[in-house]
Amino acid sequence: MSLLVIGTVAFDAIETPFGKTDKIVGGAATFISLAASYFTSKINLVSVVGDDFPQEAIAMLQKRKVNTDGLQIKQGEKTFFWSGKYHNDMNSRDTLDTQLNVLATFDPTIPAEYQDCEFLMLGNLAPSVQHQVLDRLANRPKLVVLDTMNFWMDIALDELTSLLKRVDVLTINDEEARQLSGEYSLVKASQKILAMGPKYLIIKKGEHGALLFYNDQVFFAPALPLEEVFDPTGAGDSFAGGFIGYIAETKDISFDNMKRAVIFGSAMASFSVEKFGTERIQNLNSVEVDERVQQFIDLVQFDISLVG
Ligand code: AMP
Repeated sequence: MSLLVIGTVAFDAIETPFGKTDKIVGGAATFISLAASYFTSKINLVSVVGDDFPQEAIAMLQKRKVNTDGLQIKQGEKTFFWSGKYHNDMNSRDTLDTQLNVLATFDPTIPAEYQDCEFLMLGNLAPSVQHQVLDRLANRPKLVVLDTMNFWMDIALDELTSLLKRVDVLTINDEEARQLSGEYSLVKASQKILAMGPKYLIIKKGEHGALLFYNDQVFFAPALPLEEVFDPTGAGDSFAGGFIGYIAETKDISFDNMKRAVIFGSAMASFSVEKFGTERIQNLNSVEVDERVQQFIDLVQFDISLVG
């Protein structure tokens, strides 16, 4: 039994108040797989790149025991490219450029060895491709998690809306929750979005943490107050990777376990932002991860007696 991850494997060019990168390796599925790899070992990746994508980056994923048999390499074509610029608060950003390249014609093939997938992470990608992946699995996985973004809400809302009926958990950021629901209040937005299909909704709020909604219950996980935030790119994907990686390993899809998974996700997001691109989350060790999770526990633990 395994975790299947789909999403972009990409080149990113990032500008923050602290610096600027040329093309570096990024992509939703890259961050998700790396973050998940600290919790679970059978990770199968489905994505596509062009022949300009460096072999070392594929080797880096393999080193983290990510199976890349489902990563298509298109000869003579270019890898998906995204460029973004962060505002001074580092919580919001503008997309400067999105070049779909190989993604424009991506036809996801699921290798036979991936068919035993018990957990599915539909990372950020065209909703039509996310649909195809679900269509091409012989059995519906035990848990399907979907991540998406405003780009797809703008250009493929109908496909995204029908996809929402096929997933268990949706993770989006606060701005996207407002766009999808037309509601400013995140509580009202969550009610509307849960009525669209997913049983669970996670709203990520950058440095203000994340909210997990289920029926009329809500759980809050803070973000770790960090001395330095270098590059928020991939924080949402690293969150999703930590979340699904922990659930895939524990095989427990109860609300209580999802709360724990949200903390592990938040811990992975906090690492991701400390360096540009995937630099930080490709080289962690289990002691660092444990210490980081302990910091989250210490951050929110308090004793209190109710008065009266
Ligand atoms: P995050 O910061 O978690 O939202 O994820 C940023 C990553 O998503 C970057 O590495 C990009 O390559 C990738 N990305 C940006 N735009 C898109 C898009 N429209 N579809 C899929 N992936 C994207």
